[in-house]
Amino acid sequence: MRGEFSDFRKRLLRWFDREKRDLPWRAETSLYRTVVSEFMLQQTQVETVLPYFDRWMKRFPDFASLASASEEAVLREWEGLGYYSRARNLHRLARSIVEKGVPRDTGEWRQRPGIGPYTAAAISSIAQGLPEPVIDGNVIRVLCRLNNDAGPVKSSAEAQKRLLPLARELMDDSRPGDFNEALMELGAVVCRKVRPACLLCPVSDHCRARAAGTQESIPVIPRKATLRREVHRAWVRDGDRLLLHFNNEKASRLAGMAELPTLPKAPPGPPLLTRSRGISSERIRESIHSISPADPLLGSCLSRPETRWIALGELASVSLSGPHRRWIRELLRQGH
Ligand code: SF4
Repeated sequence: MRGEFSDFRKRLLRWFDREKRDLPWRAETSLYRTVVSEFMLQQTQVETVLPYFDRWMKRFPDFASLASASEEAVLREWEGLGYYSRARNLHRLARSIVEKGVPRDTGEWRQRPGIGPYTAAAISSIAQGLPEPVIDGNVIRVLCRLNNDAGPVKSSAEAQKRLLPLARELMDDSRPGDFNEALMELGAVVCRKVRPACLLCPVSDHCRARAAGTQESIPVIPRKATLRREVHRAWVRDGDRLLLHFNNEKASRLAGMAELPTLPKAPPGPPLLTRSRGISSERIRESIHSISPADPLLGSCLSRPETRWIALGELASVSLSGPHRRWIRELLRQGH
């Protein structure tokens, strides 16, 4: 970081006031809208969140309406956004706010469901005007480049700890929420991972990486090995019913959501459908096989309470994981 912090703040905020993206949680602001947007934006791109946010606001316009909704209704509204523990935590958070009131600082926010250090800082700075730095992946990239910091970023937690002193020094105490949003926005649209737009950057005069010509190679992120996994799924029809597996309510992933049942191994013959997807550092190849209800590969599956026959006409009211709903639609369209 080169030069004066006050000049840096002035340039960054002037740019943000002029160029910030028109987003629904910015056009109309409230604590509730900030909280919902922060939960939805965890692990998810802005463009994906936009239609969900608008629908959510119509269905649950405030903490009270969300708190009084059933978990099933909340999960259905979240369906397709993934990482469903966020929906459950948001629901629990709404109930805790209705019961105990609004937390007053980051320490109090962190006592509430689903709130980690990042979300606590984002909500308390953006909605409550507290000078708490927010360090997400975009901010890590911007701060490393401003400082020409080529130290390896082994994890977000490690980088957040390392960059917190600089983030605190940079913070604009008079407009903390805007300042945090401006830094994140700069990382998202100008100081991009690949080919940062330094010519358009409002703070390029303060950037050491640009002065050294190293902006493309910073931050240094050590490569993680990608784990590969194969999952075999069963497509079991009985007339107009389809067999589904409902995850345990206490499961760490997709609790209470339905999926096509898994098989211990692939049955003979080609699958109906094969799809690959990435979850964190895993690459998962899923193949869906048509088998009969009497197939021994199902084992004791049919007698377990978590496995249920669902009428095709009722699928719309079942909370299915996003990819599974797409695959089921695709196979039904193909006449399977
Ligand atoms: S000058 Fe370039 S590398 Fe430096 S902060 Fe701006 S966009 Fe990022």
